[in-house]
Amino acid sequence: MRMLITGGAGFVGSHLAERLLNLGHEVDVLDDLSTGRLENLSHLEANGRLRVTTGSVTDEGLLEPLLASAQVVFHLAAVVGVDLVLQSPVRTIETNVLGTTSVLRLASRHSIKVLLTSTSEVYGKGTRLPFSEDDDRLLGPTTRSRWCYSESKAVDEFLALAYRQEQGLPVVIARLFNTVGPRQTGRYGMVLPRFVSQAIAGEPLTVFGDGRQTRAFADVRDVVRALVRLSECAAAEGQVVNVGSGSEITINDLARLVIQVTGSNSSVQYVPYEQAHGDGFEETQRRVPDVARVKALIGWEASTPLQETISAVVEEMSRAQAGGARPSQGGMQAEHS
Ligand code: UDP
Repeated sequence: MRMLITGGAGFVGSHLAERLLNLGHEVDVLDDLSTGRLENLSHLEANGRLRVTTGSVTDEGLLEPLLASAQVVFHLAAVVGVDLVLQSPVRTIETNVLGTTSVLRLASRHSIKVLLTSTSEVYGKGTRLPFSEDDDRLLGPTTRSRWCYSESKAVDEFLALAYRQEQGLPVVIARLFNTVGPRQTGRYGMVLPRFVSQAIAGEPLTVFGDGRQTRAFADVRDVVRALVRLSECAAAEGQVVNVGSGSEITINDLARLVIQVTGSNSSVQYVPYEQAHGDGFEETQRRVPDVARVKALIGWEASTPLQETISAVVEEMSRAQAGGARPSQGGMQAEHS
């Protein structure tokens, strides 16, 4: 089958492309390379079934022919990462809402199945844990720009469900929790690649706040398996489904684990949130998914131990540093709009 991945040159998107190619599919990637990188796909370039197009998901002239020839669109293109969201709220809202509007409108016109990736940010700072798909949402005020990411993705979810209700669009919404693994960059704030690169360099690991906040981290290679299976699951259509690990860990313990796995001499440095993010920020103290629905629908659980994922990230980063940089640009050619 032919699959389209918007945002397919990003961290999760590139792993999904690899998975779909391994399953024998033809894969189209559409990515504007704002945070995605062609080198994330360079190891797949020999595969004749991968085609990469550079451009925006909001460019409907570009999107429509790609979408019309696909059986499923995995819509991952979005502005992500706390740092980017805080720096560029206009871009965050416009990309996330307008991009999804285009994908859903055209998918509906051509009756194409949509797997929409949403985010655990949608739950905001809810205090009832674990976060279950039908829980109420609790967000901060609009003057704190952090919440614009959550709102923009919630609008995407509303719109997807509205297309489902009014036009029968086959759509599944996957709410991704903290996803980690090789190829994730720390440039936009993600904690694990930052800790690993700090540990490898022997620098202090920068723990924001008091480090007692928790997250549940799932390996990206497990996560993309869930995305593919959800896209194939008829019972998941019209549903919102958490995709993440049920194991919660404090950021202090994550720092200790990274130091242990790398064998680093690094210390931990506590950085107040205001210093890390400025004013527009408010922390979510605990975040862990209720994983009952995803398990019931597709029998999936995040199974890779966190230590193993950290080792894979360490190996990738050490290799890239030994080679002088990230993996080379390779010869991957992108088609342009
Ligand atoms: N964090 C940290 N140090 C860093 C980056 C992040 O302590 O250098 C913390 C951050 O405050 C949050 C957690 O790690 O509590 C996860 O952050 P990330 O940006 O990876 O994802 P989030 O869950 O905040 O979207």
